[in-house]
Amino acid sequence: MTRLRRDPRAERAAIQVATIHVAAGARPRYDRTAKGAAKGAALAADGRSRRDPRAERAGQRVPGANRPRFDLSQVVAGPAVRGEMPVVGESRQPAAPKIVVVEDPAFLVAVVPDAAGGRLSGHDRQVLGAARMLAGREGGVVVVSAGPCEGCGPAGADRHVALAEPGADPAARAAVVAAALEALNPRHVLFPESLDGGDLARRVAVRMGAALFDNAEVVAATGLVRPARGRRVEQRAAPGLLATVAADAVPDYGGAPREARAVTVETVPAPASNLLSAERIPADPATVPLALAEFVAAAGNGIHDLDLFRQVVAALHATPGASRVLCDAGLMPRHSQVGASGTVLAATCYVALGISGAPQHLQGIAGCEHVVAVNTDLHAAMIERAGLAIVQDAQAVMAALLGLLEQEAARHAAGDPASGDRTGAAS
Ligand SMILES: Cc1cc2nc3c(=O)[nH]c(=O)nc-3n(C[C@H](O)[C@H](O)[C@H](O)COP(=O)(O)OP(=O)(O)OC[C@H]3O[C@@H](n4cnc5c(N)ncnc54)[C@H](O)[C@@H]3O)c2cc1C
Repeated sequence: MTRLRRDPRAERAAIQVATIHVAAGARPRYDRTAKGAAKGAALAADGRSRRDPRAERAGQRVPGANRPRFDLSQVVAGPAVRGEMPVVGESRQPAAPKIVVVEDPAFLVAVVPDAAGGRLSGHDRQVLGAARMLAGREGGVVVVSAGPCEGCGPAGADRHVALAEPGADPAARAAVVAAALEALNPRHVLFPESLDGGDLARRVAVRMGAALFDNAEVVAATGLVRPARGRRVEQRAAPGLLATVAADAVPDYGGAPREARAVTVETVPAPASNLLSAERIPADPATVPLALAEFVAAAGNGIHDLDLFRQVVAALHATPGASRVLCDAGLMPRHSQVGASGTVLAATCYVALGISGAPQHLQGIAGCEHVVAVNTDLHAAMIERAGLAIVQDAQAVMAALLGLLEQEAARHAAGDPASGDRTGAAS
């Protein structure tokens, strides 16, 4: 049963006596007779329903268990219709967040992300957060990426310029980006202080003849701050045209998603490159440092068959990781430890096999975009953190997964065009 939520303010407003002439300072008067009370009650009947946590909890109970077990993944939100309890599993669709639209920004703050593979990195998102701070309410943030780029709106971009991919030559990319920036005429331009982003920022600075404030650790409209002389000096400057932002120095944008409206600008064709060749060197996922790995599969105390785990990791083209328990026991190397006292990941996808999700471990995967958990305990913290959870014995899941991957590899070897690309890790 649900009770109705009263709204005392609306009830009082309903019985307020209308005054034709309200003198300054006149007190409001209320009709507290039976008629007024009926009016207020009618209003209460139209009110929103109230949650009944006890009934919701009962709805989450897993049937058949000896001791009471509750399936908390079945989050039962308040009843959608007054007087009706929602059925477990029939969770209410949350309303889509409102998209912020800046129709006519007073000025622009441009962000040139690394966006390798058309996806914003964690560092890129932080730079967008810094750009939003500089843009404030009036300004607009525009992402200038080479080719398409996913997830710009939720990361805080009001506009998006997708430039034609200028190829592997950094000089050509700098020429195209500098031309686009000149066309956009932004007030500030931010780059990530990463290997590629830092290099591009310096090339663009030379092309545009503008000073670059590099490695900013504090970004605010009042000034940018960077460390100097081995962190013994802190340099502050007013925000100029070009700056790079240090990694993990500023938070991501945490507000409502923004429009990221696609705009086009006139730019120059990429100049002729003097590179003789540029070949992509496929990284060996088994040896890539954990902090740089895109796709990590990790084992915890719930994994008994570590040989099977290693086979699955190899078949998935993932980088192996582990919880501290396995590293302490010497079952996995120390450098594979994920967590606060191990390695903090920046992976796109993390598969946690038999890992409970202790706070120290979860700190290490806070930046992972997609988390898949396999655990026998429905209530493990890792299951709650995961976007995809499999409540099963990890050994059985690994064996089934390995079988599927081997079938897929055989189909690929036989030249079946429907089989997936076996070279990409996270594919
Ligand atoms: C100062 C400090 C720093 C720490 N730093 C780290 C750190 O950096 N990284 C880290 O990982 N830990 C760290 N820890 C340890 C952390 O608190 C946990 O003890 C540890 O993460 C637990 O590892 P686990 O989840 O593998 O093991 P357990 O806690 O034992 O969990 C095992 C999980 O496996 C599940 N399971 C059991 N059998 C199966 C099965 N057959 N199939 C599927 N699932 C199964 C269980 O339900 C359980 O959820 C730190 C602790 C301290 C005090």
